[in-house]
Formats: sequence, C-alpha cells, structure tokens
Amino acid sequence: MLLVSACLAGLKVRYNGTDCLDDAIAELIGSGQAATVCPELLGGFAVPREPAEIQGGDGHDVLDGRAKVVTRSGEDVTALYVKGAYETLRQAREAGAEVVVLKANSPSCGSGTIYDGTFAGVRVPGDGVTTALLARNGIRVLSEDELPVFLAGRVRAE
Ligand code: SF4
Repeated sequence: MLLVSACLAGLKVRYNGTDCLDDAIAELIGSGQAATVCPELLGGFAVPREPAEIQGGDGHDVLDGRAKVVTRSGEDVTALYVKGAYETLRQAREAGAEVVVLKANSPSCGSGTIYDGTFAGVRVPGDGVTTALLARNGIRVLSEDELPVFLAGRVRAE
C-alpha cells in the first residue's frame, strides 16, 4: 500500500481550497493501491487556511527546534505542522506503507525542495516537516515527479 498526498488525489485540501490532481496518483487510488493523507489537516488546519513557509531552515531543522513554520501574516504554526507530521507517521505505519508520495515544494510534504520562507516563490533545497519525519523513521518519500520512474521500476521487478 502506498500513502499519497490527498491534494494529488484530487481532494480540494490545499490552503486555497484547490487540488493538484495527478493522473498517476488517481489511478493508484482507483485501483486500491494507495490511500490519501493530508498532514496539514491532520495537524488541525482547516480549508481554506493561510499559506505558510518554513523560516530558518527546512523540515529537519523544524524537528530539531532550529527553524519554525510561519504564516504569511507572521503567526507561528510550527506546533501544528509537527503534530501533522507525527499523525502522518502513525497512519503510514498503520497502513504498512514503505513508500509515501507527497506533493513537491510544500512546507509539510516537499521532498528535496521547499519555498524559502519569504513568500516570494523562491525554492531552496530542503524537505518539508512531514517528509523529514518520515525519512527519519525509515519511510521513503517521493514527490509526484519521481513517481513515474518508481512505478516503472516496480513493473520491471514483477
Ligand atoms: S501538500 Fe500536503 S499538506 Fe498540503 S494540501 Fe497537499 S497533502 Fe495537504
């Protein structure tokens, strides 16, 4: 079983009430091979919500107390992001998921790149908070951009 970002499956759970439907993800859901998760809703946020970015580092730095997650208006929402990460880890373990596919660039779900905390659309290397926690617990995180290569490899291995 794979766990995937709910917004990639077409659920309108992003901060602005939209989704990021990815056809390959939708197929995995349709065939029963994947379940959805949204770390920010698990953390206690609603839809819509204010956008937030990590300031002072990436998700690993947030987990280690060196960085925080802040909304555009300056509210510190770090605790909710950390709570959502731990809830997602719990769900991944319950589902027996060894691979989780999370939306690129998000302060929760980003893997490899995130926004730089200035709300200017600038991307920097780094992981989101949930991605960092899953990785620390031995769960492989892919972005939707990496999914086609992963699925092709799985087919070759069968
Ligand atoms: S990127 Fe992650 S936290 Fe944001 S809406 Fe999608 S699933 Fe939820």
